[in-house]
Amino acid sequence: MNDYLARMLTEDGSLRAIAVRTTVLAEECRRRHGTDPVATLALGRLVTGAALCGGLLKGEQRLALVVEGDGPLRRLMAETDAEGRVRASVKCPVSHLAATSADYTVSNAVGKSGFLHVVKDLGLKEAYRGSVRLQSGEIGEDLAYYFTVSEQTPSSVALGVCLGATGEVSAAGGFLVQALPDGDEGIVAAVERRLREFPPLTSLLKRDLTPEGILGEIFSDIPLRGRETLELSFHCGCRRQRIRGILLALGKEELRRLAEEENGAAVTCEFCREVYAFSREEVLRMAESLG
Ligand code: ZN
Repeated sequence: MNDYLARMLTEDGSLRAIAVRTTVLAEECRRRHGTDPVATLALGRLVTGAALCGGLLKGEQRLALVVEGDGPLRRLMAETDAEGRVRASVKCPVSHLAATSADYTVSNAVGKSGFLHVVKDLGLKEAYRGSVRLQSGEIGEDLAYYFTVSEQTPSSVALGVCLGATGEVSAAGGFLVQALPDGDEGIVAAVERRLREFPPLTSLLKRDLTPEGILGEIFSDIPLRGRETLELSFHCGCRRQRIRGILLALGKEELRRLAEEENGAAVTCEFCREVYAFSREEVLRMAESLG
């Protein structure tokens, strides 16, 4: 089944809820980046978090989540837009943590100290940028903390990734529940209680619950309305022309050096890992074009 997002509101408008299935996306990120299992979990969670945030965007708006921690993965990033297109990168795809050790956890791979940055391109002159200190490095908690503290929207976030026997992603998904202004306190409190007792999300993902199924487990007898869905897909907007622009920005001297010493240039996109190769002659022509 394809990855998708489902978005709903409680009947009375007290809460907004978004749930996603991101199995294909998380697996594609693992394959493209060659992550080790704990890095696959971290990147899969971040991609899932970005997909959830994408459910809050409209039109041409875009959003990036950047996690910079003191763990071995160093820097993870996931970008999305209002059309459910997602891409991701990780600075160090292999954690080098011992897989048999009790320390082989997402928070140790990400690091417990550092920042979560949220960069939103809302089509205004300048991008909006909000940052919070990492709370646990588990990513879901950090994202909930960001929404609650930085955007002053009380939020609950759960992100789950399950791995198969060979380290591939067998299931991934998540949910975001937000209290809206002037909501019914009784309903908000009932959902908060339910979320405190909620089973680990991975147990629901293993049961192959759909995004709507996950929301059903959270809200049970609280009626929901306005169901909207959005297909999620991996998409990288990198193009040869844009990579050329990056090379041109290196300047004439550096381009000549690349042509002579490296026999050309090869640039790997940090998001999709596509390699763009430029021959010695192409690089020399680019150097000459700079006059
Ligand atoms: Zn790319």
